[in-house]
Amino acid sequence: MNEAATQTRPAVLILLGPPGAGKGTQARMLQQRFGLVQLSTGDLLRAAVAEATEAGRQAQAVMAAGGLVSDEIVLAILRERMAAPDTTKGVILDGFPRTEGQAMALDSLLAEQGLAISAAVSMAVDDDAMVRRVSGRFTCAGCGEGYHDEFRQPRKQGVCDECAGTAFTRRADDNAETVRARLTAYHAQTAPLIAYYDKRGVLQAVDGMGSIDAIAGELGAMVSKVTA
Ligand code: AMP
Repeated sequence: MNEAATQTRPAVLILLGPPGAGKGTQARMLQQRFGLVQLSTGDLLRAAVAEATEAGRQAQAVMAAGGLVSDEIVLAILRERMAAPDTTKGVILDGFPRTEGQAMALDSLLAEQGLAISAAVSMAVDDDAMVRRVSGRFTCAGCGEGYHDEFRQPRKQGVCDECAGTAFTRRADDNAETVRARLTAYHAQTAPLIAYYDKRGVLQAVDGMGSIDAIAGELGAMVSKVTA
């Protein structure tokens, strides 16, 4: 179902949570349902690395180590993507902002465009579950659909449910050691944004340990409300 036709103003939804909270999965579902654009700085950075752009070359080692790429690089990439015409109905920010500097830069960018944050949704997951979730995940190389060794295999083994593709990829940084570094970065630099958005009155929370469908239901209700 696509409910984009009922939207009256652009939504800016932020998904806040550690790696493995299900931000990407939920952002993709919201994109399909509401016609919003999933804007993942991680995906944009991986594309820049694959294309060996200057930004990609600078980001590569930091990403491989599970650290945070500089605000300067991330903001340049985000600005460019936000300017694309397909974002006019609204965006779901997946993995951005990750630092207070990025959050403040986002506030300025939105203000310049006469936009405001509709909701920042905190998706809480406990650390052990997160390591288990991230370690087993893989993605269809053709359409980007996400799967998991333990929790979500394709219906027919080796064939993507969505596009029937047979090539799958695993992220280089989805290994136990790097995941721990990413988690440390999350707790030190990103978790404080929960208080940042709470102060601004836009914070919402979902239980990231719930089922994919239960979380999708809660998020869908929030988006329906903010776009009504
Ligand atoms: P993700 O796909 O969101 O898990 O991001 C993968 C990696 O890309 C992270 O571990 C960081 O190295 C980098 N990255 C993604 N988004 C950001 C961001 N907003 N700020 C800094 N680094 C980022």
